[in-house]
Amino acid sequence: FKWETEGSRFVMERLLEAGHEAVYVGGAVRDIALGLTPKDIDIATAATPEEIEALFRRTIDVGKEHGTIIVLVGEEQLEVTTYRSESTYSDYRRPDKVTFVRSLHEDLKRRDFTMNAMAINHEGRWIDPFNGLFHIEKRTIQAVGQADERFEEDALRIIRAVRFVSTLGFTIESETQRAMKKHASLLSHLAVERIKQEFDKMFRGDYLVQALRILYETGLHHYLPETKEEITLESFEYVEQPIEGWVLWAQCHQLASTELARAYKLSKKEREAIARYLTLLQEQEWTPWIVYCYSLDELLFVRRVNARCETESELRQMKERLPIQSKRDLAFDGRDVKQYYPNCRGKNIGQLLEEIERAVVLQKVSNDTEEIIEWVNEHVYERLCIK
Ligand code: ATP
Ligand code: MG
Repeated sequence: FKWETEGSRFVMERLLEAGHEAVYVGGAVRDIALGLTPKDIDIATAATPEEIEALFRRTIDVGKEHGTIIVLVGEEQLEVTTYRSESTYSDYRRPDKVTFVRSLHEDLKRRDFTMNAMAINHEGRWIDPFNGLFHIEKRTIQAVGQADERFEEDALRIIRAVRFVSTLGFTIESETQRAMKKHASLLSHLAVERIKQEFDKMFRGDYLVQALRILYETGLHHYLPETKEEITLESFEYVEQPIEGWVLWAQCHQLASTELARAYKLSKKEREAIARYLTLLQEQEWTPWIVYCYSLDELLFVRRVNARCETESELRQMKERLPIQSKRDLAFDGRDVKQYYPNCRGKNIGQLLEEIERAVVLQKVSNDTEEIIEWVNEHVYERLCIK
């Protein structure tokens, strides 16, 4: 098939040659039905994890007890999962035990939505026991089997429904949506890392506002970390990447970046990026110094959210016209401090360089070593350069 990669074809053929049933499954099959190129190709097989490992030279055990092995082929990583059946989730966090089964049908039955519960075999035959293709045609998200039971088994599926609204623009079938509302409170038991992963994908979707509307309509927000208030959603229209989504999430729930990071277990890098945006959102006047300190992407996003008067081309021009674009362009560095101002020590060195940087950006002095020295002597020497 034209969507197959070299790696996926190799893994598939190898499994079949060894006498194991194997099919393409999951998001890849859904994407093919949508006419999209699948991002990552998942394979499901009747072979056990040990049997999979025995067949391939390079594998990573990412959760053998759940039946998932990653097979490395060239640069590719293929997820190969043993057919398994649904098991109970008594703590709503992870399955208590996984039962490997030999039937594909059993495996498809435990999947979340009909559009994700289809398979394609090596001959190109579609296996679609729950009418996934029909629902894709109708652009609806529908739970496999009894929606109530499926959300009780794993409440993350409630959030996944919302994130698929965001990425696909589908609507949620009414019985499924009713069950989401009914079981909303189960969200409070979920491991926040799992929610965070789905949110990252949700924030990347083209239909984010639509998804958030459903999130609030179904009352899911009452059971998410630090997210009790209802919010205005319009500015989410501008979100293009997850970090921007998190910024607005923090802003509209009036959370500091540290609070948001703690509640959703964001990384230090994410927290710092969010803090920058939140500061920029507060700035009233965009001086050359502000324009210098932030990237064009940051400026353009905040400009749209705050409906600022600067046009995009004005901002680009403001940025281009800055005397320097970064510290590296400065005609004065740490070595110059040592040479010309040996008495400037410790944290005064950083302070001095920062003041020079600022003065150059604001055109109080031109970016020229001699002139900078003159400027320092006149303005900061006594404060920072005498012991
Ligand atoms: P994406 O293209 O965004 O990765 P996906 O459908 O592949 O979407 P994954 O999280 O990668 O989503 O999951 C792969 C497949 O595993 C899904 O298509 C679905 O069949 C099944 N699945 C994932 N999470 C669950 C869950 N919580 N409950 C039931 N089935 C699930
Ligand atoms: Mg996937």
